[in-house]
Amino acid sequence: MRWSQTFIPTMKEVPSDAEVPSHQLMLRAGLIRQLMAGAYTFMPLGYRVVRKVSQIVREEMDRAGGVELFMPALQPMELFERTGRKEAFGNVLFNVEAKRGDRNLQFALGPTHEEVITDLISREIKSYKQLPVTLYQIQTKFRNEERPRFGVLRTSEFLMKDAYSFGASMEQLNEAYDAMYNAYCRIFERCGLEYIPVEAESGPIGGDASHEFMAPADNGEDFVVRCSGCDYAANQERADTGRSSSIPARVEDAADPQKVDTPNAGTIEDVSKMLSADPSTFIKTLIYSVSKNSADASNGEHQPPKVGYSVSSDSSDAGSDENNPPKAVAVLVRGDHEVNEGKVRRMLGAASLELADEATIERVTGAPTGFAGPVGIQCDYVADHDVALITSAITGANEKDAHLTGVIPGTHFELTETHDLRNAVADDPCPRCDGTLETVHGIEVGHVFKLGTKYSESLDARFLDREEKKHPIIMGCYGIGVSRVVAAIVETCHDDGGIIWPKSVAPYTVELIPLNIKDEETMTTANRIYDELSAGGIDVLMDDRDHRPGFKFKDADLIGLPIRVIIGGKGLKEGNSEIKLRTDSEATKVPIGETCEYVRRLVSAD
Ligand code: ATP
Ligand code: MG
Repeated sequence: MRWSQTFIPTMKEVPSDAEVPSHQLMLRAGLIRQLMAGAYTFMPLGYRVVRKVSQIVREEMDRAGGVELFMPALQPMELFERTGRKEAFGNVLFNVEAKRGDRNLQFALGPTHEEVITDLISREIKSYKQLPVTLYQIQTKFRNEERPRFGVLRTSEFLMKDAYSFGASMEQLNEAYDAMYNAYCRIFERCGLEYIPVEAESGPIGGDASHEFMAPADNGEDFVVRCSGCDYAANQERADTGRSSSIPARVEDAADPQKVDTPNAGTIEDVSKMLSADPSTFIKTLIYSVSKNSADASNGEHQPPKVGYSVSSDSSDAGSDENNPPKAVAVLVRGDHEVNEGKVRRMLGAASLELADEATIERVTGAPTGFAGPVGIQCDYVADHDVALITSAITGANEKDAHLTGVIPGTHFELTETHDLRNAVADDPCPRCDGTLETVHGIEVGHVFKLGTKYSESLDARFLDREEKKHPIIMGCYGIGVSRVVAAIVETCHDDGGIIWPKSVAPYTVELIPLNIKDEETMTTANRIYDELSAGGIDVLMDDRDHRPGFKFKDADLIGLPIRVIIGGKGLKEGNSEIKLRTDSEATKVPIGETCEYVRRLVSAD
């Protein structure tokens, strides 16, 4: 392709509204342009990368036994009503109404395709003989994200590869899952993207049933917790802290806690400043309303699938009912730690959990929000392991504008057991070995999930076994954000000058730069090399614009093609081209006659 004939609008300035490097560079290199918040055009150069990544995904899905199909983005809302996800998705689901004749039809724009594919399978698959099967597509998804941001990292319309496995047994599910997991590893490796597979919420199946693939990046929205000593890695919702229970002995002749005035100081930050005390000496007391009504609570897992979208803790089927009104439970963690609601929910076997309202807080503490503490609180409480290790704590006094100091856990309030109820942090012990945990930011680029029978039951996708008995089909779902992968590559592969494309996904492999397009010899030579490389199947972009060399070099660094070939000037007079990898600082002089062969060798080198 000749630059003059394509459409690559590069920009010198850093766009002011782009916060992260990938967003800035994708705009500057002319890969994307914004239509509106959360919606982008992939420009010709950017779309070539999308296609290369898609092709890698396709090849690895096929290799893992997946079969490609293509489903509609426009879907009947009725299917989402049957699975309960119209409510679970809430505002995230694009809801489209259309008039047909005198009827009003309700459609969803697919945020994912569990409903559509399970409906299809329910009609077509009747027997165990037709199983297992894994189907996939690469298709546009729609999610009305609360905060679309960071360019194509989080958009309301994005390209996803979504795969779904259907099996007659747990073995078939596990085989499909492992095949997808391994395919994901190959995909990200081939894309040149560093990745960490991390344990994620396990959902209805429990156990080791879900992994997210995270690309480590400073600007990643997700937190990965990993061990420096072994291969333990989990997302922050899931990660164990590696702490265990150690209940302190009762101190017999302990002095009573001291009440101190803390007027209008209802946060740990305020009180720690006021009393010049470190937050790690505080016991944070959060009061939750807990419902235990759902059957789901019995298996201790109440996380809907992530690929299918994860709802917040107050999922629709988990509200209160008359027999089981929500109950107030206080959760105690160290002042500098964060409560992990998933852990609390599992520990309590709760169907739902939400922070209590002001009235409940007043009822159990006798004070407004901000002054709760375990001493004398009028509700059940559960404590994190680290609470027991504080020897003299500051807590709320269950009284407006007052705190207690010198509170001894197990002495001033009862403490007979502790639990892992908080987010893991750096320097926690590893739950698997004697190493230490560290945290890194990551971008979630993919997710594999053992779904079980949630969708096959609600949409009646069943098979007959050998004995002609009916069972719901056992499903898995597997997503990769193709457009997000493109941004994640840019986010992790760049320098001050611009993008550094891995060869496998670069929009073109070679940038050919004739220094002066008005010089006949330069252009004859450049055109000959362009023709020969192109004929050999190498993607070449020739910068045939009438610009100064310095200008073209800057753009070459910006768009970041792996191999640069310069023709012209003094070099050409001496019979040479100059060849440079995007990652090299110095060019190599290569005789014109050997240039194509030299480039071919670079292209096929690892
Ligand atoms: P996130 O937590 O980032 O919102 P998710 O858990 O909602 O992601 P899944 O439902 O598991 O994501 O979707 C599968 C994949 O699709 C994700 O791993 C991610 O790569 C991609 N993806 C999800 N939401 C978006 C989005 N708004 N924009 C771009 N890619 C997305
Ligand atoms: Mg999401």
